[in-house]
Amino acid sequence: METTLLGLDTDELRSVMKAEGVPAYRGKQIAEWLYRSGVRSFDEMSNVPEALRIQLSGKYQLGRSTVLVGQRSKDGTAKLLLELNDGARVETVGLPYPDRMSCCVSTQVGCPIGCVFCATGMGGYTRDLTAGEIVDQVLTVQEDIRFERGEADARKCRIDHVTFMGMGEPLLNYEVTVKAMRLLNKEVGIAVRQLTVSTVGFVPGIHRLAEEEMQCTLAVSLHAPTDDLRRRLIPGMTAWSVAELMKTCREYVQRTRRRITFEYLLLDGVNDGVAEAVELARLLHGLNCHVNLIPCNMVSGLTFRMSPREHIQAFRNVLEDAGIQVTQRMQRGSDIDAACGQLRQRAGDATP
Ligand code: SF4
Repeated sequence: METTLLGLDTDELRSVMKAEGVPAYRGKQIAEWLYRSGVRSFDEMSNVPEALRIQLSGKYQLGRSTVLVGQRSKDGTAKLLLELNDGARVETVGLPYPDRMSCCVSTQVGCPIGCVFCATGMGGYTRDLTAGEIVDQVLTVQEDIRFERGEADARKCRIDHVTFMGMGEPLLNYEVTVKAMRLLNKEVGIAVRQLTVSTVGFVPGIHRLAEEEMQCTLAVSLHAPTDDLRRRLIPGMTAWSVAELMKTCREYVQRTRRRITFEYLLLDGVNDGVAEAVELARLLHGLNCHVNLIPCNMVSGLTFRMSPREHIQAFRNVLEDAGIQVTQRMQRGSDIDAACGQLRQRAGDATP
């Protein structure tokens, strides 16, 4: 089986070159072609001798995915369904803003957590992604934006924010997620502070991340302030109570001095009442955090409805009156399959 180069850092690529009997500096050149230029073939590596390109292409593959379906919203949001080398499919999203370009990556094919409001959760879990497959998503979104804008120079369409918030629970694929973050930082050139890891509350993973001494951002998808409600909404994460999760979050803030974001998906009549807001405010009292309220995207096959504007405002008022910073996620991509897993669900899953 061919070895995949995407996912190896410069030092590892130097070792590959040494093993091939060529000078180690070729590893640095290949890293630049892979991560900075985002090439899709050895032939594009113009400063690498042709004989070496032929030698490498016989033994190694670059590890780029194929775009199966691309949807673009009127607001510029691009949702791509990618096919990986084994035929598995994952979604990735590009979000261009006036002041930044963001990409939301998947970390697993499917997801074992099974959140009841999520199209990915409905489809089950197939496998973990590799670090190369995660980085490929960022490179592919960059390429898509460049194509859309007709920009010839790859370096002018750079993703500068990445959220690990697509399909899968990143902290269940821990080593790979951390390796992908290091590659995005060191090889692709994205600042660590602009990398956000989103977890649905996997407590051991939060503890490990606190020890990494990485200045990344942690987002915790809480979605419910009580054990009973969380059990109903997030059945795959019942091993830790809300109290244990909040204790872990407080320790994380203390250890890293970084503010946590709490994601809260508002579902009409389920978790969007004033009582839940009061309980949430109590949980977050005195914690360096902010709450991001997310209006739910409609998913076919699920009966949840989006919270009415009055519910969202009342919920927000309770939190703000308690001194908690609140933002409301802009609804983007509402004219395409915006919710996680929707596009893959519609296109049909191909499990390898
Ligand atoms: S919301 Fe996230 S953690 Fe929950 S099932 Fe979907 S992908 Fe998995």
